[in-house]
Amino acid sequence: MTERTLVLVKPDGVARGLVGEIIARIERKGLKLTALELRTVERSVAEEHYAEHKERPFFGDLLEFITSGPLVAIAVEGPRAIAAFRQLAGGTDPVEKATPGTLRGDFALETQYNLVHGSDSPESAERELKLWFPEV
Ligand code: ADP
Ligand code: MG
Repeated sequence: MTERTLVLVKPDGVARGLVGEIIARIERKGLKLTALELRTVERSVAEEHYAEHKERPFFGDLLEFITSGPLVAIAVEGPRAIAAFRQLAGGTDPVEKATPGTLRGDFALETQYNLVHGSDSPESAERELKLWFPEV
């Protein structure tokens, strides 16, 4: 069953020059890129994107980080695309949860600066794709 998911290469990934590496892994997995944009987001978009976390202690820092510089937003499509990208990304904590071989396991050290975002369910994907790519 074909699914769509939203991937973000967060500002740390762009600043560290890892966009190519991340996109290469998405493509090698067999997933397809259907929209892609480099952009620096306004706080309101970041707030809406991470609305589920607004009561969490790290919410303020997370918004600062996500709006701190350009990120790359990508609409990704393929069979089980949501779970497939989460598998490529690895767990949220890049040391305790992400295993080697995953993006976070291979390239990140801190939970906040964990390189990528991927939608976590069909409902999230729908909501996030509408927010980031209303035209697609
Ligand atoms: P994921 O990105 O794996 O779906 P969450 O949705 O739980 O993870 O959290 C969203 C983002 O918030 C994480 O990717 C990470 O950048 C940040 N974050 C999550 N938990 C923490 C934490 N305990 N401390 C700092 N930042 C965090
Ligand atoms: Mg999440």
